[in-house]
Amino acid sequence: MKIAVIGTGYVGLVVGTCFAETGNRVTCVDVDERKIKMLKDGKVPIYEPGLEELIQRNVAEGRLFFSTDVEESIKNSKVCFIAVGTPMGDDGSADLKYVLAVARSIGKSMDGHRLVVLKSTVPVGTNKLVKEELRKLTKHEFDVVSNPEFLKEGAAIDDFMKPDRVVIGSESARATQMMQELYAPFVRTGKPILVMDPASAEMTKYAANAMLATRISFMNEMARICEAVGADVNEVRKGIGTDARIGFPFLFAGAGYGGSCFPKDVRALARTASQHGCETKIIDAVEAVNDRQKHLLFEKVVKIFGKNLAGKRFAVWGLAFKPKTDDMREAPSLVLIEALLKAGAAVTAFDPEAIPETKKTLGDQVRYADSALKALEGADAMILVTEWNEFRNIDPEEVKKLLKTPVVIDGRNVFSPQRMREMGFTYTGIGTR
Ligand code: NAD
Repeated sequence: MKIAVIGTGYVGLVVGTCFAETGNRVTCVDVDERKIKMLKDGKVPIYEPGLEELIQRNVAEGRLFFSTDVEESIKNSKVCFIAVGTPMGDDGSADLKYVLAVARSIGKSMDGHRLVVLKSTVPVGTNKLVKEELRKLTKHEFDVVSNPEFLKEGAAIDDFMKPDRVVIGSESARATQMMQELYAPFVRTGKPILVMDPASAEMTKYAANAMLATRISFMNEMARICEAVGADVNEVRKGIGTDARIGFPFLFAGAGYGGSCFPKDVRALARTASQHGCETKIIDAVEAVNDRQKHLLFEKVVKIFGKNLAGKRFAVWGLAFKPKTDDMREAPSLVLIEALLKAGAAVTAFDPEAIPETKKTLGDQVRYADSALKALEGADAMILVTEWNEFRNIDPEEVKKLLKTPVVIDGRNVFSPQRMREMGFTYTGIGTR
């Protein structure tokens, strides 16, 4: 099938590349000329494991193209995926300006039937809104389906290639059949394609993210209680995760969730609910707990070093909102670093992939180290914010040698508290003893 994926970000680029990999002819389109030029030059604008090789192969085999020409790409495709951003608006709702701009481009440029697929995360009612927009602008036939995306940055290709399920919100048999054909290669192992009405498909994405965010905030609250009563959240996690009704995913206590999805989607769901007169007590609490959690690492610094941090320097390990990505959107590291700087401290930061992205926000307010160990040289403490695997393999003896004072604040419970203390560290984790 000929496909245009409009919006070539973390989602659009992965989705487009994976559809090319299964034999479709895909054009990834973006208004960002710099991004498209990079891709045409063979460079990948984001860090996502395995993506570069997959892009190279599909470009070389003549199935994957990049373009800034939205109109031309729509004319040359049967299926148009909308994968542009839906950032948080001023009132917390999802801002649909990019989605509706693309819908208008499709309406103006289409010269025959088009299947329009809403891949972006959009509030309930957007499918209907896009249909209305298209109806105003074209006499040609079209179908609009909602097809929310559940991939995780850092494991995006695997998630897309082997989804737990594919959700399709469709009101048209023709559109459903086209979507089933497109996704058939990804569900050979028997995973379901769930066809439902568009509103339920739209809602499914928000419900999934709200549930995952709830588990994280719940465990962060448990961690606070554990710390207060002298229990260890890691033991509690094992104790409850083994319960088949609960399971292990998303039970790690930490420095709070960030990223481009959970914060904005939780807020947008609350906004949609309130627009429909529904109270959201759980969702509001999930968000409030997370906002508080993002300040916890700084609170731990103050507990050890006091409020005035002038003359102190802190090594921050990990900047991205989670490992295996360079995405800095809503990253807990930013909240910590801003608080440290405001209290007069200096910061030396290291992240394996996210330093260029961090520079866009923090510029030269912090020093950037070339390696995890170099960041430690002469620092008063190390604060681990993102649990990159390479940090797990570093010998704490090395850490101790390089730090001015052996203080480790472990925002992801990577190290063993007992071992660290035996080695002479002042060590604190999240909810551990
Ligand atoms: P992103 O910001 O990385 O990419 C969006 C891209 O759209 C940008 O490159 C931007 O230049 C482009 N764009 C904006 N307006 C355009 C237009 N009129 N025409 C062409 N291109 C245009 O965003 P993302 O992280 O890929 O997220 C996209 C959507 O997918 C969002 O709704 C998000 O909530 C959802 N989503 C994201 C993830 C994730 O892990 N990032 C996972 C699931 C769903």
